Amino acid sequence: MSAGEFDLIRRFFLEPSAKRAGTVLGIGDDCALLDCPPGMELAVTVDTLVSGIHFLPDVDPEKLGHKALAVNLSDLAAMGAKPAWCTLALTLPNVDEAWLSAFSRGFFSLANRFGIALVGGDTTRGPLSITLQALGLVPVGQALRRSGARPGDLIYVSGPLGSAGLGLRMRQGLTTVFDAAAIGALECPEPRVALGERLRGLASACIDISDGLAADLGHLLSASQVGSTLNFDHIPLISCVSHFIYDTQNTDLPLTAGDDYELCFTVPMDRQARVDSLLQQLRLPGQCVGVIETTPGLRIQRHGQSIVLSNTGYDHFSQR
Ligand code: ADP
Ligand code: MG
Repeated sequence: MSAGEFDLIRRFFLEPSAKRAGTVLGIGDDCALLDCPPGMELAVTVDTLVSGIHFLPDVDPEKLGHKALAVNLSDLAAMGAKPAWCTLALTLPNVDEAWLSAFSRGFFSLANRFGIALVGGDTTRGPLSITLQALGLVPVGQALRRSGARPGDLIYVSGPLGSAGLGLRMRQGLTTVFDAAAIGALECPEPRVALGERLRGLASACIDISDGLAADLGHLLSASQVGSTLNFDHIPLISCVSHFIYDTQNTDLPLTAGDDYELCFTVPMDRQARVDSLLQQLRLPGQCVGVIETTPGLRIQRHGQSIVLSNTGYDHFSQR
């Protein structure tokens, strides 16, 4: 790395990062040195966003900085981990200072809100791509896994589904309506970090919804070796998604569209009141949307009748 490139990192990625306990050594050496407190486990996740695949090339860089971190914070939330550190590998076609400045602003405004420190990374030239690795802390043995759901447990989602999917259709010009809440869900998702932490010792299993409820709940069901029935009528929806479903009679959006980053979790039935009051405390419009059953597979009811998804990904996860 040249002196010029490191100067770039100093300007856009070193100064704004929050200092954090346990950071023995941050940006500047060959490795960062991190101290994991006794009694804690490290939860580690990484996600790559590629231009043209995970985001539209002309997306606002400030929102992209936010989203690159948000999708990783969502993975930490799904494990019940507290965000601690992250590293950032950036591949850039050229050095565009205005772009970097906006990206850095979006990134650090979210990072500093959750006290996560950027402690290293890599910067290379090439087609725009962003890889973010996040590290979180969780008390030994208390991480929320996908595998703990048991028959009789209730299935919850933490908030509205299908919003980001409809936002994408709007950005792609596939709908005539424009809705700020849908665009916001797509470009500025809010990771459910506080909820994830509070679900430790409460939820039996948890996953974040990045690929649509049917697919992600499908992963949880497979890992737990159980099945479920979902009640479509209980899935929280923002109003433009409700209208879209009413107008098109297409129910796939909240079940198969990705990028929502809400949590899907299960709880034993006798903890329902505790979960409902937690959701209320955190002001999350989460709902109980179904129940875990012994029979494998995912069954969906709407207005008391079975519905079948037209999306083929569904079969892969549910028919066994
Ligand atoms: P090396 O060649 O030893 O991997 P680099 O020259 O790539 O190190 O990076 C120098 C320092 O800058 C390292 O501490 C590295 O973690 C950090 N760094 C490089 N790129 C970034 C980035 N995009 N964000 C944060 N830190 C970065
Ligand atoms: Mg080195």
